[in-house]
Amino acid sequence: MNKLKNKYLFIPLASAILSLAVFIIINLNQVEKSSKLYIDFLNDISNKKVSTVYLTNSPTINIKLKDGSLYTTDNPRTNDFKDTLLKNGIKVSESQPFTKSESIPFAGFIISLAVLAVMSLKNARLTSPSKLSVDSIEASAVVKSNFNFSSIAGNDEAKESVKDIVDFLKNPEKYTKYGARMPKGLILYGEPGTGKTLLAKAVAGEAGVPFYAMSGSDFIQVYVGVGASRIRQLFKKARSNGKAVIFIDEIDAIGKKRDGSKNGGSDERDQTLNALLTEMSGFNEKEGIIIMAATNRMDMLDPALLRPGRFDRHIEITLPDINARKKIFSLHLENKPALDIDIEDWSQKTAYFSGAKIESLVNEAAILACKEDSEFIENKHLDKAFSIVLAGHEKINRDYIKDRDKKITAYHEAGHAIVSLKVLSEDKISKITIIPSSKGAGGYTLSIPQDNMYQNKDYLTKKMMVLLGGRAAEEIIFGSENVTTGAFNDIKTCSNIVSSMVTQYGMGETLGLLNLQEFSNILNINTEDILKECKNIVNMLYNKVKNLLISENNLLESLSKNLIEKETLYYDDLIELAHNKK
Ligand code: ADP
Ligand code: ZN
Repeated sequence: MNKLKNKYLFIPLASAILSLAVFIIINLNQVEKSSKLYIDFLNDISNKKVSTVYLTNSPTINIKLKDGSLYTTDNPRTNDFKDTLLKNGIKVSESQPFTKSESIPFAGFIISLAVLAVMSLKNARLTSPSKLSVDSIEASAVVKSNFNFSSIAGNDEAKESVKDIVDFLKNPEKYTKYGARMPKGLILYGEPGTGKTLLAKAVAGEAGVPFYAMSGSDFIQVYVGVGASRIRQLFKKARSNGKAVIFIDEIDAIGKKRDGSKNGGSDERDQTLNALLTEMSGFNEKEGIIIMAATNRMDMLDPALLRPGRFDRHIEITLPDINARKKIFSLHLENKPALDIDIEDWSQKTAYFSGAKIESLVNEAAILACKEDSEFIENKHLDKAFSIVLAGHEKINRDYIKDRDKKITAYHEAGHAIVSLKVLSEDKISKITIIPSSKGAGGYTLSIPQDNMYQNKDYLTKKMMVLLGGRAAEEIIFGSENVTTGAFNDIKTCSNIVSSMVTQYGMGETLGLLNLQEFSNILNINTEDILKECKNIVNMLYNKVKNLLISENNLLESLSKNLIEKETLYYDDLIELAHNKK
């Protein structure tokens, strides 16, 4: 933006120099061409040829004839010279003459100077830290965002959870009439390139409101106070247009957890964060302003940001599964000359690719096709592009379509799902996927727990069995030598449950109804027994789970195969498989 302004600054500068040059040339020419003897001048007077005499104190004076020509002659410096001239009907001017050919470049010079001054003043204001306008920090107000929900493939849950926001933006009065309090802020979290910005734009597009976007890192500057003032300006600008979607990318740059150590020099960040929170509580629901923020580090955010009335709705944006990838391929090939591209096959090959990466794959293929002057983008171009894109991302292990990884994850998740279905059917499994979530491991199995105020011993035990199901399936299929770290979180949660049961909930034998924590500072408790009891419980459950999975071997196989193929399965798919394969 600033560079652009600087470029324009060049225009008045050039014209100033040019007009100055013309001015000088004209003047030089004049000095040379016209000088007459005083006697000739007197002749001109008597011949009534003289129109104006420019009378100054210099040794020579300028004379203008009636035909427009100019010359100089000696200044007589007599006292009645002016009187004589006037009596002869000659105009007397007491300044230097100005010809038309001179005045044009001179005016040009003055105007250029003025423009230059104004522009550089403006420029200085843009770059000076104290008076930043939002323009200078690339808040782009797209008056009408061209995106809508159909521009986004997959992420149906996320789309579903912003639908009411769109409705609210269209018609905020309706919601206030019912006294409904809409969230002021939403956080979209997930891997980079999964379409968080896209979703925010789509919300603005669907609602038909302007979209303002900035990145958290734009706010963090060397100068203290700049970030806060940018926040205020951003909100001012957005509010001046009524309804709006304000999008703040990389919110973690300003909203990172404060780590206690006050000497981190994070004054600037605190001020910026406070300004944001103040602005957010400053407008009311009726205004129809929604702030959407994106991050890939949800766990890093300051809890102050997440409180009610601030960013109180959190929406996960996941990597696309095979169906979504198909749609993304179709979307990005839509307006390109593509021939016989096997989208099905490409969606298979691009497991763990983000939407952005698929886009760059297609783009790379288009560039290759163009380089070859090929009429169409074909599979061979995608093939080449694929190795380019992969090579560029080689370091990130997960990007490789490792069939083995996919297989392990599939069996692991199938294990969770089957145990859940068999021992804990009251928790309905809504989704099983081998596409990783930003929260955790390789894949996940999502079940909706029942809403009970108390969790009883039986429930906790079954919950542990479900957690152990992933590792158990791995062990059954791949052998105990080949189990993976994929069960890290499961084991952690399971240990947490069993230790709570034994040491806090009074559900174990060793401590009975005692809570371990209450004795921690008076006794040197022998924790060995507690550990032993926990271990026995978990081992016993693990064996049960393994037996269960072995007896459900058919289902385990069919479920895993389906997962490898389709990547995401829902409740109905699971039930269907369970019925067929038994
Ligand atoms: P993020 O904000 O999560 O980093 P972006 O929204 O900037 O990701 O996505 C970058 C680009 O990738 C988008 O402009 C779009 O072209 C493509 N893309 C990402 N996810 C999707 C998706 N689900 N559907 C269609 N295109 C997508
Ligand atoms: Zn697991």
